[in-house]
Amino acid sequence: MRTIIEPFRIKTVEPIRMTTVEERERLIREADYNLFSLKSEDVLIDLLTDSGTSAMSTMQWSALMQGDESYAGSPSYYRFEAAVFDLMPFKHIIPTHQGRAAEHILSSIVAEEAGKGAIVPNNTHFDTTRANFEDVGIVALDLVTPEAHDPELDYPFKGNMNLEKLEALLEAEGDRIPMVEITITNNAVGGQPVSMANIRGVRKLCDRFGKPLIIDSARFAENAYFIKLREAGYQDKSVKEIVREIFSHADGMTMSAKKDSFSNMGGWLALNSDEWAEKARTRLIMTEGFPTYGGLSGRDMECLAVGLEEVVHEDYLQYRIRSIQYINERLDALGVPVLKPAGGHAIFIDAKHMLPHIPPLQFPAQALAVALYLEGGIRTVEIGSLMFGRQPDGSEKPAAMELVRMAMPRRVYTQAQADYIVECFEQMVARGTDQITGLEIVKEPRSLRHFTAKLRPVAL
Ligand SMILES: *Cc1c(COP(=O)(O)O)cnc(C)c1O
Repeated sequence: MRTIIEPFRIKTVEPIRMTTVEERERLIREADYNLFSLKSEDVLIDLLTDSGTSAMSTMQWSALMQGDESYAGSPSYYRFEAAVFDLMPFKHIIPTHQGRAAEHILSSIVAEEAGKGAIVPNNTHFDTTRANFEDVGIVALDLVTPEAHDPELDYPFKGNMNLEKLEALLEAEGDRIPMVEITITNNAVGGQPVSMANIRGVRKLCDRFGKPLIIDSARFAENAYFIKLREAGYQDKSVKEIVREIFSHADGMTMSAKKDSFSNMGGWLALNSDEWAEKARTRLIMTEGFPTYGGLSGRDMECLAVGLEEVVHEDYLQYRIRSIQYINERLDALGVPVLKPAGGHAIFIDAKHMLPHIPPLQFPAQALAVALYLEGGIRTVEIGSLMFGRQPDGSEKPAAMELVRMAMPRRVYTQAQADYIVECFEQMVARGTDQITGLEIVKEPRSLRHFTAKLRPVAL
């Protein structure tokens, strides 16, 4: 087969600045070995996140000019609504400024109905979803399939819900469960997809126990494409048909449009329940805005409407999924321990295996992230003991895994840039990774320390 190429050409370019190793040594020292403290201008390839970092198309930029900023009843709102309902045929849509605002509204409605001690199961809650439920006193429970926990296991749908556990929970604690949620793709376990059979299985249980099913949908198009590639019976269906089928099984959705909508900002909550939608709109007016714009400007809604059409194009999705697989395969061939198979939006490196000489509480994944920046100006993010190590009682406990995540912005980097990322690893490995030293914390805030902590290399 021929190389899968970028299905676009570049009309507007955004220059990136080259730096030398010496400059980067100084810059990372000045940033206290925390990549969040770097200026983005000092980063060559920025893989910190795929959220809000997509490149917009010519059609999106021209739609932006058609934004109608009327307070009520803007045509931009109706175009946005039509684009959402074309893929996700729910009854109501509530536009928000980003995904977590939709989650905040949903969790407050659910908490009001469910009362104390409620439980919301999910395949795996994303951080903000968990935080929003916990904030209103709801237990956010993760019931992911056991295959997700084996980083080496090549399993097609590692994002799935564990249906046996969900059934047991609904049987034992049904009264305490106001809704069931599925996250597609399952971000917290590496952007791994959920199969249609699994979604149908969850729907069946929801029907049996009379529970609404909500889909946390940030990467719905990537998930649908994985279903087309990997699930029997879907090869001849279009991605759009698969997307429609996914949402036909749900009673509502929350969306971060900063992912699979090619938007730099935006989100929504969609619902079938008239009662929940009315409550949601009341809250929307208090916290976001009037129901025909919510947290968005007219021009944002125009860009979103076009982005939703583009994100289900199969040549785009083929390039998207393949470009991530490509880096994963090449790193794997170099002996770099990557999580397998590659997920839909990022490559994950197991730093515990790559740097076995660095103990967990010297933050091997942060050390690897710093080394990658020094090597080639690449910015990644640690998902390990720096992020999760500090316990509520103040003690320190190593995280289950020490990962470096390389999240790929959509339509932003080229094939040569992908090769450059691989070459940086190649040269690092050739020189010997036992030169890389661990880090210690000099100063940290009380919570969410990974964003602002100051670190330094441990003295040898
Ligand atoms: C990003 C994300 C969110 C939160 O959305 P924001 O737009 O960042 O507020 C929720 N769920 C999942 C699965 C996400 O990836």
